[in-house]
Amino acid sequence: MSYPQDYRRSLAEPADFWAEQARDLDWFRAPRETLRALDDGTHRWFADALLNTAYLALDRHVENGRGEQPALLYDSPVSDVKRQYSYRQLRDEVARLAGALRALGVEKGDRVVIYMPMVPEAAMAMLACARLGAVHSVVFGGFAPQELAVRIDDARPKLLLTASCGIEFDRVIPYQPLVETALALAEHPPQRVMVLQRPQAPAQLRGGRDLDWAQQVAQASPVEPVPVLGGDPLYILYTSGTTGRPKGIVRDNAGHAVALRYCFERVYGMRPGDVWWGLSDIGWVVGHSMIVYGPLMAGCATVFYEGKPVRTPDAGAIWRVIEEYRVNALTCAPTAIRAVRKEDPSGERLARHDLSSLRALFLAGERLDSSTHQWLEEQTARPVHDHWWQTETGWPVTAPCVGLDDYRRKAGSSNAAVPGYHVLVVNEEGELLDAGQEGAIVVSLPLPPGCAQTLWNDSERYRQAYLQAVPGHYLTGDGGYLDADGFVYVMGRTDDVINVAGHRLSTGEMEDRVARHPAVAECAVIGVPDDLKGQLPLALVVCKEGVAIDPAALQAELVARVREELGALACFQQVRVVRRLPKTRSGKILRAVLRKIAAGEPYAPPATIDDPAILEELAGVLRGELSAEAP
Ligand code: AMP
Repeated sequence: MSYPQDYRRSLAEPADFWAEQARDLDWFRAPRETLRALDDGTHRWFADALLNTAYLALDRHVENGRGEQPALLYDSPVSDVKRQYSYRQLRDEVARLAGALRALGVEKGDRVVIYMPMVPEAAMAMLACARLGAVHSVVFGGFAPQELAVRIDDARPKLLLTASCGIEFDRVIPYQPLVETALALAEHPPQRVMVLQRPQAPAQLRGGRDLDWAQQVAQASPVEPVPVLGGDPLYILYTSGTTGRPKGIVRDNAGHAVALRYCFERVYGMRPGDVWWGLSDIGWVVGHSMIVYGPLMAGCATVFYEGKPVRTPDAGAIWRVIEEYRVNALTCAPTAIRAVRKEDPSGERLARHDLSSLRALFLAGERLDSSTHQWLEEQTARPVHDHWWQTETGWPVTAPCVGLDDYRRKAGSSNAAVPGYHVLVVNEEGELLDAGQEGAIVVSLPLPPGCAQTLWNDSERYRQAYLQAVPGHYLTGDGGYLDADGFVYVMGRTDDVINVAGHRLSTGEMEDRVARHPAVAECAVIGVPDDLKGQLPLALVVCKEGVAIDPAALQAELVARVREELGALACFQQVRVVRRLPKTRSGKILRAVLRKIAAGEPYAPPATIDDPAILEELAGVLRGELSAEAP
């Protein structure tokens, strides 16, 4: 199997190519139909197959003699706990938990929201839902109650699974007050909440609604995997869109299983029995594809780490974990490496650890800057690969496919398209651009298996957001270019989504919160470059006429407001009061120009601007004061 062969075939004969990849998956009923095109321009892969994703991730390995092999390696420096589960143990835990969920009325197609820290029970919860054919929606534990409530109202879950607390560095964060607030805010709260009690901060359970996790599981009988259709949803994962309302990305069962197996084998070069580490959180797509489903379906052991790259306890944590579990490959975001490098620039801590098991590092989530890339490669003496993907795609769009012969790799680029993806760059009119010309990155339809084909309860929004701009293509929302050798260079978002420490955030959501302050007439939130986090949000605020408010006080109030309503993960700290915002004559805020000014890039006032002089004034504000703490 070679990369050029796979790549060519995947584009020339997508249905045949993917049917072949799907052939030896352990289906309950093999698909008769590989690819179906729907009238709305979307596609479905293996829609009529019968399978169960939890069966593929667990039972199959036990049945094939891998029952005693480690499946999940839990390492929690924040709670000082380490625990390992073999495939057999994990299957049994999941089967029993699924029984507990069923006893609470959860059946195929029902939604279950999971709001949990990085404890093994969170992965078990995802797999237990999959086992029942229920649709999980994991909400990142760092999200504030209002965000949890918005997701609950969209998904309308029958049950909420949570834990009594999370632990951030040395701070215990009780979840109960957050959950209580979210349930009070939600219009469609679930009837039942099952709470995993953690000793650091047990929760006071509310009779009639709250249930004790351990008790429920102890009383439950294990259940068998429920066959679902290939096109049935496995999960919903909310991600930031360009408006204040998050998008419910829907993942199917069959396309996901085929894609992730291909990904782990051919992209990452992982074999059953290998040890894989996705350093992230189950609240993000990486947590779904690269911590839980991908490595388990591939028969690997997955490291499940409840800690940070630094301060738990120090910048040697990543290297310690690699040595201790004999990790073969790691995926993480560049921001994690920048944090480590800042505290251990000469790699003294790294040098104390045996990294001989490590074969490669795969970075994604944001642009991998060349200095971080070089430092990491020098320090680890291992290949460091940049690769690019999104919540929507669920698996890499570009990557060096190290599991294939003759794979292509070029440092400095986001690498070449993975088989299945035909990546192109177009201008604003949707016309193809030549090599070297920067524009919007699109992917020709059909998207390969695994990519989301709809949004939860909103297929029309999917069509508008992704398929409308360039007919026959999926709009990624990222900008960049291709070089003459076909390597892709992803430069950043072309829309109002920013990337803070590898987390995708909507500036629209932040603007929503800022604009509700009584002193604010209007505002724009943009991402500005940051050495450590990639980007940080900055709010430009125009105050209402006649309002006398001290800018420092306004900043403090807005920072507190965004933190409370969106969560600390937004890293919203910078507010600048400005006289006015640059707009088109039709009144639209010129965000693209603001982004360029903030990034220190050359900008030309667009022809449609109403007052060109304002740009100079703003450039002064942005250049001069970005690093200042107070306005
Ligand atoms: P998310 O959906 O949260 O995983 O975020 C996806 C977004 O992160 C992409 O649309 C890109 O803007 C950015 N991204 C992910 N990987 C890369 C990469 N390797 N290089 C540049 N940007 C990336």
